Amino acid sequence: MPQHDAVRAQLEEQLSRLLKRVGSIESDLKRAHDRDWNEQAIELENDEVLEGLDAMTEGEVRRIRAAISRIANGTYGVCSTCGHPISAERMAAIPSALTCVTCSTEQPRSA
Ligand SMILES: [Zn+2]
Repeated sequence: MPQHDAVRAQLEEQLSRLLKRVGSIESDLKRAHDRDWNEQAIELENDEVLEGLDAMTEGEVRRIRAAISRIANGTYGVCSTCGHPISAERMAAIPSALTCVTCSTEQPRSA
């Protein structure tokens, strides 16, 4: 599948951009603890936002890494839950998608 080369390049670019963002969030968190005592309340609120962002970004990083390794082992575009092929439309919209539309809407983790 030659088109996977383009997807892979796209995913790798997205990954390096995300990793840069994680780096700047982490330095923001470190800086936040260096402030005056009376700014603590505000800083704590900011920390929560930053930590939420951080977790989201890290989740995305994990997904993209998984997608890249799936291209390498030939399982890219196959649903990791049910094993059926993921639709081309979905893969085009979310290149790092690991599950088909059905499995992602069913969210088996909340069951
Ligand atoms: Zn599925």
